[in-house]
Amino acid sequence: MWKHRLRVDFHLGIVVMFGAITVLGIAPFGIYRHLTGEWLIALIDLVIVASIVGAVLYAWRTGRTAGVASFLAATYSLGCVAVAHLAGLPGLLWVYPVLVANFLLVRRWPALLISAAAAAAVMASDAALATPVEKILFMVTAIVVSLFSFVFASRAELQRSQLEAIALRDPLTGAGNRRGLELELHAAIVTSQRQATPLGMLIFDIDHFKAINDDFGHEAGDDVLVQLATVVRGSTRANDRFFRLGGEEFTLLLPGASGAALWAIAEKLRSAVETDVQCRGRTVTISIGAASHQGGESAAEWLARADAAMYRAKRGGRNRTMTADDGDGPS
Ligand code: GH3
Ligand code: MG
Ligand code: MG
Repeated sequence: MWKHRLRVDFHLGIVVMFGAITVLGIAPFGIYRHLTGEWLIALIDLVIVASIVGAVLYAWRTGRTAGVASFLAATYSLGCVAVAHLAGLPGLLWVYPVLVANFLLVRRWPALLISAAAAAAVMASDAALATPVEKILFMVTAIVVSLFSFVFASRAELQRSQLEAIALRDPLTGAGNRRGLELELHAAIVTSQRQATPLGMLIFDIDHFKAINDDFGHEAGDDVLVQLATVVRGSTRANDRFFRLGGEEFTLLLPGASGAALWAIAEKLRSAVETDVQCRGRTVTISIGAASHQGGESAAEWLARADAAMYRAKRGGRNRTMTADDGDGPS
């Protein structure tokens, strides 16, 4: 169970790993400092270990890893600065792993900022770096380590966003796929409830699409799907979310739209498709089901209502909008 959680939640895994490294890596030094009577450094070590254990437990219980990761980066950085000023060399040696850790814990730009601040504060320590030459040597090596880490972090962030795009997008139309919808549905519902703003959904499906494939071939069918996606993008706003559920069935999530506004958007889209999407001179139409999210309704229930409305539009003769809310017209 806990192993599975660490495997699926990358950030939690990083936070727990750093927590364990901190305890194993710093606690023995704390005990050693205590035994040699260096109370202040022993106390700093104790504070670092205790705050990190507390933060990791908090991340484990709440799942809020971003704040904890920033806290860890700040604590490690402050810790090595304090030790550099008090004990000299040990603080200096810890700077290098801390610089790398910052880039694993937080995004590259904040990491660069924290690392630069930590390195500058360590450079000011005469206990750790006695001569100007040592200070310059330290500064150059700290910059090199930070830049390498920055480049690795940039590459990892780019690959991550590319992988996400592949995993959550439909390659043909560029719309989000079903997995993308599932991820965004939940977030959209939470946001609309928190801000008390309406949230609308349209589900639409191309009418007699099988006939287009049968008469003109699969490639012509694919071209219709691409044309449809272009028309949808042209007639929606930037924060409207567009998904392909599968085959020739699509969903639009429309924050801020419900009732009459949702109906108007659906009708505008329906007539835009009717006039702008064609296949070898044949008009292409869609049937639309519209549903506003209702308080307390689950994502699955909401989808099912919109879907049922869409099937009523099909049964009602196609190329029309039906709403799941109240009646089948602008409300
Ligand atoms: P209705 O008006 O009731 O929706 O009829 P329809 O013909 O559109 O519905 P049906 O579900 O019978 O047919 C859907 C067709 O969509 C069948 C399948 O071959 C085709 N299809 C599904 N995915 C793709 C795709 O990616 N590309 C193409 N070209 N066709 C697809
Ligand atoms: Mg169809
Ligand atoms: Mg279909």
